[in-house]
Amino acid sequence: MVAERFFMNQHTTPVHTGYSACPHDCPSTCALEIDISGDRIGRVRGSRGNTFTAGVICAKVARYAERANHPDRLLHPMRRTGPKGSGQFEPISWDAALDLIAERFQAAEQALGPETVWPYYYAGTMGLVMRDGINRLTHAKQYSRFFSSICVNPAWSGFLAGAGKLAGPDPREMAKSDLVVIWGTNPVATQINVMVHAIKARKERGAKIAVIDVYNSPTMEQADIPILIRPGTDGALACAVMHVLFRDGFADREYLAEFADDPVGFEAHLQDRTPEWAAAITGLPAGEIEAFARHIGETPRTFIRAGYGFTRSRNGAVNMHAVTCIPTVTGSWKHEGGGVFHSNSAIYRWNKTLIEGTDGVPNPSRQLDQSRIGAILDNDPEALAGGPPVTAMLIQNTNPVSVAPDQERVLRGFAREDLFVAVHEQFMTETAAMADIVLPATMFTEHDDLYQGGGNQHVLLGPKLVEPPGECRSNHEVICALAERLGAQHRGFGMSPREIVDWTLQAVDRGTVDELEDKRFLDIQPDFETAHFLKGFNWPDGKFHLKPDWPKVPYASPAKFGPIADMPEWPDHWGVIEEATPEYPFRLVTSPARNFLNSSFTETQGSVSREKRPELMIHPEDAAVLGVETGSLVEVTSARGSVMLHAKLFDGVRRGVLVAESIWPNRSHQGGRGINSLTGADPVAPVGGAALHDNRVRVKLAP
Ligand code: SF4
Repeated sequence: MVAERFFMNQHTTPVHTGYSACPHDCPSTCALEIDISGDRIGRVRGSRGNTFTAGVICAKVARYAERANHPDRLLHPMRRTGPKGSGQFEPISWDAALDLIAERFQAAEQALGPETVWPYYYAGTMGLVMRDGINRLTHAKQYSRFFSSICVNPAWSGFLAGAGKLAGPDPREMAKSDLVVIWGTNPVATQINVMVHAIKARKERGAKIAVIDVYNSPTMEQADIPILIRPGTDGALACAVMHVLFRDGFADREYLAEFADDPVGFEAHLQDRTPEWAAAITGLPAGEIEAFARHIGETPRTFIRAGYGFTRSRNGAVNMHAVTCIPTVTGSWKHEGGGVFHSNSAIYRWNKTLIEGTDGVPNPSRQLDQSRIGAILDNDPEALAGGPPVTAMLIQNTNPVSVAPDQERVLRGFAREDLFVAVHEQFMTETAAMADIVLPATMFTEHDDLYQGGGNQHVLLGPKLVEPPGECRSNHEVICALAERLGAQHRGFGMSPREIVDWTLQAVDRGTVDELEDKRFLDIQPDFETAHFLKGFNWPDGKFHLKPDWPKVPYASPAKFGPIADMPEWPDHWGVIEEATPEYPFRLVTSPARNFLNSSFTETQGSVSREKRPELMIHPEDAAVLGVETGSLVEVTSARGSVMLHAKLFDGVRRGVLVAESIWPNRSHQGGRGINSLTGADPVAPVGGAALHDNRVRVKLAP
């Protein structure tokens, strides 16, 4: 897509503007305007015409040219020539690489059946065609299916447990709120637009911004009401807030009678969930809890923006559900600028038949858990669901060697000599370095794709704007070329990405791809009454469920996971988290670094120089006990592994809490073990997920 605006830069190369969408794993899915000169992209800006993006994007994407035009981009297919992980590769033609992958997949299938092949992907691109198209090959060949679990499961199941539907008030309503509560997320780092709308409310209406987190993040630094709690204690805080709301007459009993399942039982349950009770759990003084609760009670237009971070805990689903109960108690759902918003994923209602090849799948194959890739590749029979070992993989858009939990097992698995791995990537990630075949992948400006804003309400087109460098090919091209060699049949393999986007749009009455290209994006915000659940919540009784039925939460998963039978009957502090012990006296959170996005951007000098090095934030009084100073090299150990970091004394955490902003490459840590050596892959109840921010550890000066 080319804009009408043309001008000449200082080298007289014509520059024009292309329109796209940010493809990264961030709920904002910003609408972008990109300077293009020849086949290179330049400055990237946020679209002013998109009322959610509102002209603002994060700094790392604004300097995207550094990533797209990076000298280290993979440009040619390669075959491994040395030991796994040695980094020794030689060039190979595309045909030879694809032939070899097909040959190895067929040999694996003949030996152990199709489920021994496991296509594996994730959110390195959020484009629906390029991210999810790999499932078409999985379905057509009956390979092992991929159960996505590393990101949303605790958050989404917690939200669904109450509201029954993953949607909510228009996030732009934050600007019309009188109290914006940013709960367990750091939008200054990622999702910068949340701050734009919250700050607009502060400037124009005198609204206050409250930020709840486990450390004084860049977002909390902007707060009028900073609320610093211990990790995994959000449920306790929410319950104590609601105790005060009932006790002090702030509960909207009329609303509760009409819209909630059992407000009387809930009020009785909260009787002893006092601020003093929560203070002992959260570390937050009872007076601060009282004041925060009163502020909510006195502010009908309280907008809670609930993030993902606080749910990456073994009690994460319970905590999310507890937070969503607050506007039900106050009735703030009914006000413009009120309610709680987490994700709009339910409003899109895509038909993914062509993208994923979901039609005509005779017998669904087994589903393997993304987060448990360590146990799966380490041949754990339970993780393999009773089926054959995984002996062949195609990996697109993800870097599990760095980002998956339980890293020791992940590394052991990828080192297996009987495992064949093809990685299709943009850079030589630590996963690509373990591969047998490495294929060069396009970036978002180099292919056509379709996007949705999970944190807003836009459908966006990301058309191909420039030719790919070298021999880079898109995910779709690779999947189709393999399908042909493997004899996989589906009409989607014979279509272009643009044709698939066109069909997918038309299947849900959203016009054509040409129309979307003209408009750039569609605003599909539901009407006010629907968005605020004023026609009822999404359960047969139309009520918000204060008393969740965890086994029946409507989230598609191959099984129920975790200690589901022990989940609390009502919102509560569920003490299933990794509490500190004498052996492991600290609680560690692995928060996202501002200049990285998972492991993306760790390849750009602009991001690395800002982040400097892997560091461990530790309270100065805890550091003094250990003889640790800022800059000390420390060894952090959990029951699962150890990692080296440099200490940074920081009084923006509660005593006993540590924060390591991530995800640095493993090799950036002395000793070569990354932060996910410490994290566990035991599934979170009720529908799985990784408790990446829920780790008990010990710390000592490095030997
Ligand atoms: S805020 Fe999120 S969606 Fe927007 S440009 Fe940055 S990473 Fe992309």
